Amino acid sequence: MEDSYRHKGMRRKLVNEIRKKGILDENILEAIYRVPRHLFLDSGFLNFAYEDKPFPIGAGQTISQPYTVAFQTELLQVKPGDKILEIGTGSGYQACVLAALGADVYSIERQKKLYEKACDFLPRLGFEVHLFYGDGYLGLPELAPYDGILITAAAPEIPETLFEQLKTGGVLVSPVGSGDVQTMVRYIKQKNGKRKEERFGLFRFVPLLKNTAND
Ligand code: SAH
Repeated sequence: MEDSYRHKGMRRKLVNEIRKKGILDENILEAIYRVPRHLFLDSGFLNFAYEDKPFPIGAGQTISQPYTVAFQTELLQVKPGDKILEIGTGSGYQACVLAALGADVYSIERQKKLYEKACDFLPRLGFEVHLFYGDGYLGLPELAPYDGILITAAAPEIPETLFEQLKTGGVLVSPVGSGDVQTMVRYIKQKNGKRKEERFGLFRFVPLLKNTAND
């Protein structure tokens, strides 16, 4: 669990690269700097950890590209103390970036192995995230409402129950679509219950699947 000067230097370079790509929120860049991404990859892949690329994390899943993590985080408009629900814990990297921003993070994963790995690893890393094994399609109604909901897998459509778990004025960010590439969409829940919808270009995510799994 080493985070050396070399790792920090690589991370600083990554942050500069992401800034050049258009992420301007210094709090988000600082959060990316604070989370040691190389520790989320199996050792031996250090050289890949600080490239701005997605990477396999086992169980057929990927840790998102750092730029994409920063971009989704920016769209979510997180403030310290915000209660955020993430669908798709995966490695837990995105959840830690949200926690580093001071958010109160709840994250759901449908693959038991990934859930268990995150339960073991995140506390050792010093990040407090509330982790749940379950089906993100259902959200976590017992702990609702949330200031923000972040879906980190491609949703063919957004389940209505997730909108119900959002506060008025709350933000839901998700890649939407069922093809190879999806459109990044931000929804803001209005007072009248309607949603304002904005689109932000094309991204490539693994699909949001139904039901839980042990694979
Ligand atoms: N946020 C992750 C990357 C997520 S990859 C990170 O920072 O590493 C997408 C994840 O969503 C995968 O781990 C996948 O197993 C999970 N997933 C897919 N469908 C799901 C569902 N219905 N509920 C919860 N998690 C789901």
